[in-house]
Amino acid sequence: MVEDGVLISTSPATGAEAGRVPVAGADAVAAAVERARTAGAWWAALGFDGRKVRLLRWRALFAERLEELAELTHLETGKPVADAVVEASAAIEHTDWAARNARRVLGPRRTRTRLLLPEHAGHLEYQPYGVVGVIGPWNYPILTPLGPISGALAGGNAVVLKPSEYTPVVGQWLVDTFAEVVPEQPVLQAVHGLGDVGALLCRSGVGKIAFTGSTATAKKVMATCAETLTPVLIEAGGKDALIVDADADVNAAAEAAVWGAMTNAGQTCIGIERAYAVAPVYDAFVAAVVAKAGRLRVGEEIGPITMPAQLDVVRRHIGDALATGGRAVLGGADAVQPPHVAPTVLVDVPEDSAAIREETFGPTLTITRVADADEAVAKANALPYGLGGAVFGKANAVRIARRLRTGMVAVNSTLSFVGMATLPFGGVGDSGFGRIHGEDGLREFTVPKAITVRRAPSLLPAMTFERTPAQVRRIVKTLKLLYGRRP
Ligand code: NDP
Repeated sequence: MVEDGVLISTSPATGAEAGRVPVAGADAVAAAVERARTAGAWWAALGFDGRKVRLLRWRALFAERLEELAELTHLETGKPVADAVVEASAAIEHTDWAARNARRVLGPRRTRTRLLLPEHAGHLEYQPYGVVGVIGPWNYPILTPLGPISGALAGGNAVVLKPSEYTPVVGQWLVDTFAEVVPEQPVLQAVHGLGDVGALLCRSGVGKIAFTGSTATAKKVMATCAETLTPVLIEAGGKDALIVDADADVNAAAEAAVWGAMTNAGQTCIGIERAYAVAPVYDAFVAAVVAKAGRLRVGEEIGPITMPAQLDVVRRHIGDALATGGRAVLGGADAVQPPHVAPTVLVDVPEDSAAIREETFGPTLTITRVADADEAVAKANALPYGLGGAVFGKANAVRIARRLRTGMVAVNSTLSFVGMATLPFGGVGDSGFGRIHGEDGLREFTVPKAITVRRAPSLLPAMTFERTPAQVRRIVKTLKLLYGRRP
């Protein structure tokens, strides 16, 4: 809620105030980006080692104050403290990895000399953009901004963060704790407000925007960034599928499906929203999922829906599934009890229903019987989204994982790729493009800089008007010699 230029953040569970932050206007956003330019130059000049030690101090502070951060996140989003701890642990891991690996991935290196242009040495390094703008969602207010923030900072950029209007306090906590370990310059700042503040950041002249949020908003962000040809990284929504093959450990698959679908009350971009189980294991899988999900307590393991408007979406998806032939084997029509949604498992839902095709963002799961893994893959791939996914099975599980049209897949677990610092995170299609985390996530926030250095006179001087016809003939001869042979 905005009141007199102040954004007041409240707990979705109790309505208690979580904190207040000032709303930034156009001048404040421009001033923050201007300050960030100076801070970014200072930060870049620290070099990889100077940044590494400071980022590791920040990571240590996270670990020291983990309980405080988890409590704050619980207050502002409503998610259980344990879920906030899991979220923070992944954020700590990514910050640690980015700090330790930035020099290796981004630092200057010589490239291999080839037979063409052998008299030149190739040098490659990855230079920062200067200032990176990060626009974040509310569902994982620690981890989703920290993926791009840690990569951008390790790469030598200053960052201006626009947290979601639902989680500004956690966003400000990140900024304030960074200032504790790096007090010299405002290398990480936040600008607060509604979507219009995000749009101001897109137009502010930052070197790149890293956006995490819905596909619909992603399109607006891209359109705004197009005005200034500002590059964008898009981490958007998903409708991830879990496939259970005939040789799967059904109990493990059910445990993972329930966690993947219902952790954070289902408000997870890489949350499992659809399951496809092959006929021989279908009944056992449904029974195990219902038994496990039925034990979850609303208000305990299942927190509230953070954004009130999302309750209508969840209600519509459940209603649509039931109206078109689907059956609720757990929860169902009365599951939505604001601000909570009770765990809901739907079967026999038509593939064209909203519950199968659109992002629900609630603790709901559809389970569909399929003849075999081929049908499961075809159905899983039938949507424009393509973020993550999971496969349970033995003999063919990795082969099935490769065939899913997504950026990430977990085999015999769910969501695990988000915590693995060495792997890139991101999607395809309506789920976005570009990557955070891992080596790709570091390169994403830098510009490859290619430099050639001549170290000897040219034997085949091609790039000069002073070449002679005889030299051109020698070039032709050399090319035929080097590349004329067909394999
Ligand atoms: P939104 O798209 O509504 O908002 C994301 C951010 O963009 C918020 O900070 C929002 O500000 C801001 N914003 C809104 N309008 C504009 C605009 N015109 N220009 C610039 N910025 C704008 O997403 P939610 O916050 O609702 O987050 C949920 C979505 O995020 C889900 O679809 C989920 O799947 C996705 N997500 C994707 C992840 C991924 O890594 N792929 C990870 C986590 C979530 P404000 O809040 O003030 O409106």
